[in-house]
Amino acid sequence: MVRRLRNFARKIKGDAIQKFWDNRTTDNKTTMKKRGELMPHWFIVLFAFLFGAAVGSFVNVCIYRLPRRLSIVQPPSHCPHCGTVLTIVDLVPLLSYIWLGGKCRYCKTPISPRYFVVELLTALLFVATVNRYPFGLEAILVAASLAALVVIAFVDWEFFLVPDEAVWALGIFGFVRYMLSEPNVYGAILSLSGAVLGGAIVWVVGFFGKVIFRKEAMGFGDVKIAAAVGTHLGATWQMLPFFLFSVFIGAVMGIFIAFLQRRPLTGYMPFGPAMAAAAAIMFLAPPSVAEFILRLYGIAQ
Ligand SMILES: [Zn+2]
Repeated sequence: MVRRLRNFARKIKGDAIQKFWDNRTTDNKTTMKKRGELMPHWFIVLFAFLFGAAVGSFVNVCIYRLPRRLSIVQPPSHCPHCGTVLTIVDLVPLLSYIWLGGKCRYCKTPISPRYFVVELLTALLFVATVNRYPFGLEAILVAASLAALVVIAFVDWEFFLVPDEAVWALGIFGFVRYMLSEPNVYGAILSLSGAVLGGAIVWVVGFFGKVIFRKEAMGFGDVKIAAAVGTHLGATWQMLPFFLFSVFIGAVMGIFIAFLQRRPLTGYMPFGPAMAAAAAIMFLAPPSVAEFILRLYGIAQ
């Protein structure tokens, strides 16, 4: 009798715990469903795509102007070749590029396909964001952070430098985002120590790389990127899959560049784009992806 009662009690307790976990894990989905009743999901996706494309065209402005130390608000957009100020018709995200056949409407100078690629990429990242996070403040902060990552990746790729404005934006968005989920002193400390830990890891790797290879392995720009991403991840185990992804993507990029140039990679390759891509994966992919990279390196079973 006592045994049966005990079993019964254990069963109820087990169910309660199971229910608690089910509630926690399905929380995101039910919130999405609730939102979906007010606004259909396809509408949110369409909005994210169009808004992302528009933000992408601002991202293009940042990629062009930040490394050249130009203001991002003044003067209005103009053709860098003939200087003609562009009108609304020339500035419609994605469509203008197709409509004008990738050329300036006034002087017919070809426009870099980067403009189209960045607008499309930003639009797709925004769509991925609303598929991962319920439509709300956290989704907005994640989307804005991804836009900053696109700026960082493209500027570092082309100019071998990391714009401070984008790094600060990424770091502040990360801190605010962390405070949303843990609005107390502990959350603030965890987020800020994530920045210190991320920056320190890259700095130490760069320091020993310099000593061992007698060559600049990591720039200070890489330290800044890791610190800004660190505010999002916090000083937690999530730092590990982030760096593993960075190294993995960096290696794939290196092999790809060597293949395109048909010779072993000897020159300097910026590490920023690899870290930006790794951060985007950490922000957007479900936790199982982080577990996958740990297993790939033989760290988890
Ligand atoms: Zn022109």
